[in-house]
Amino acid sequence: MYDVIIIGSGLGGLVCANLLSKKGQKVLVLERQHQPGGCLQSYRRGSMMYDTGLHYVGGLAEGQPLHDIFKELGLLSLPWQRLDTDGFDRIMVGDREYRFAEGFENFVEALAKDFPEDKESLQQYVSLLQCTDEEWMQKTNAYDYLSGIVRNPLLLSVLSGACLKMELKRDTLPLFTFVHGNAPFIQSSWRLKGDGNLMVRRLIDNFTSQGGEIVCDAEVEELVEKDGMIRKAVCKNGQTYEARYFISDAHPSVTLSLVKESQLLKKVYRRRIDNLENTNGMFTAQLLLKPGEVPYFNYNEFLYDGLEAWDGRGYMVSCRVPEDGSAYARQIDILTPMNICECAAWTDTRCMRRGEEYLQFKAQKARQCIAVAERFLPGLHEHIQEVHTSTPLTYRDYNLTPDGSAYGIRKDAAAPLLTVLSPRTSIPNLLLTGQNLMLHGLHGVTMTAMYTTKEIID
Ligand SMILES: Cc1cc2nc3c(=O)[nH]c(=O)nc-3n(C[C@H](O)[C@H](O)[C@H](O)COP(=O)(O)OP(=O)(O)OC[C@H]3O[C@@H](n4cnc5c(N)ncnc54)[C@H](O)[C@@H]3O)c2cc1C
Repeated sequence: MYDVIIIGSGLGGLVCANLLSKKGQKVLVLERQHQPGGCLQSYRRGSMMYDTGLHYVGGLAEGQPLHDIFKELGLLSLPWQRLDTDGFDRIMVGDREYRFAEGFENFVEALAKDFPEDKESLQQYVSLLQCTDEEWMQKTNAYDYLSGIVRNPLLLSVLSGACLKMELKRDTLPLFTFVHGNAPFIQSSWRLKGDGNLMVRRLIDNFTSQGGEIVCDAEVEELVEKDGMIRKAVCKNGQTYEARYFISDAHPSVTLSLVKESQLLKKVYRRRIDNLENTNGMFTAQLLLKPGEVPYFNYNEFLYDGLEAWDGRGYMVSCRVPEDGSAYARQIDILTPMNICECAAWTDTRCMRRGEEYLQFKAQKARQCIAVAERFLPGLHEHIQEVHTSTPLTYRDYNLTPDGSAYGIRKDAAAPLLTVLSPRTSIPNLLLTGQNLMLHGLHGVTMTAMYTTKEIID
């Protein structure tokens, strides 16, 4: 009998496992995939490792949001590389580039050189990024509020230009998501020198050294409720595991579908969760470059034709830190939002078996991404050795993420009570965690895991 069983070994599940086992709880993590980590896992092609859902993280320096918790989790001592302080994110609109400098004051001063008439708007913007009134930000529409304080449409697009790490949707996005998705990165931005598996391994080593256990290839297919509590998790391979508490890092609607018979989960609650919309997914082209040809760049480049940042278009180009200390890059990722509807023709297919037309669709999309990236890296196509691609279908099938969503359930400023979920469910010993509840990304998921574990330990 375990104290806590955690379903899913994404960042949310692994942070919960660490915090709980540190407090003496006997923890078991069950992961359906062969490899742990969810969106943090890496995959191998030839001799190279590629990341899936990790490009950069914000707020790791002392006094910043992730510093203390990453230290406690043993993640701070991983090889983090700070991005260029005078331009960690660079926004290219047409052929003009704008730089985000690190630190709120530097951020204002740097952009005020490009927008001298709008310095007051910039100051209001960074004050907003330091706002702590969570309740007000949850129910305030980001686009409406921002367009009120930033009247220049070009400046608004530039300020929103690094937001491919969230879904910029005019009619729903809460200010809370916008602020938490931007502020920590302006405080300081970091890339991991190595792949996401470094984080996954460190988290697993820590909690297993405290007596925790993890089992992969263990898809939970049922959570059995009896006398008002979940009593056991039944895996597809027939194994069953009992615990006092169950935490699910899987999507909430997937989690509820595991409780097949329940006295406590009302139909109306299930329907409400099933009807929540998910954010869009992502198309990623991961390029292996020929050695010694393209210099490494220590920042992210975001590319737009014009003012379309809030139309869910745009491209992010990110570079992996060369682990051998070379001045040249071997890997570049190009990301652009993609709705799973674009993959509708292959909905009923499974990974590696989607057929020739799907491969052609992905190759065409990758060519388009490379052509856009050439605006900033002219001649890029000549330096490419291999291209690997993923679509929302990839995330749907590997992580069981409905709609292959990149950031989980869509939050709506007009309905915060419905779209921001509590870790609690109507079954007292079944808790939720992960990016679908409150905030996504490494920062959001770590914070959410702290809320979840607080339900069990002090
Ligand atoms: C393309 C992309 C790029 C991103 N880049 C960044 C970035 O640069 N910086 C950043 O901060 N964030 C980034 N993110 C977001 C970040 O990766 C995620 O918010 C975070 O990793 C999600 O963690 P999670 O624990 O909520 O969920 P997940 O990582 O999805 O984990 C859920 C786990 O549950 C498992 N599971 C599901 N059902 C079951 C079951 N029945 N039984 C057992 N196991 C089950 C899944 O297999 C999976 O391992 C990116 C995301 C994407 C998609």
